[in-house]
Amino acid sequence: MLYFRGQQVKDYCRCQRSGSITSEEEEWGYWDVCCDCGKPLENGFHYYNHYDGKDYDEEDMW
Ligand SMILES: [Zn+2]
Repeated sequence: MLYFRGQQVKDYCRCQRSGSITSEEEEWGYWDVCCDCGKPLENGFHYYNHYDGKDYDEEDMW
């Protein structure tokens, strides 16, 4: 679950076409935020670090 301004994101921007977009920084990344309604865009979250989805920690621990 993603968070926006400390709250779970339940509502995304539904503007047909948003005039302008700003970015809102969070702890793990930043959101693309619609300037018209102030809601984050769906799939508009970008992590600061680009993980490739692999876990390297679990192997070779012992
Ligand atoms: Zn909007």
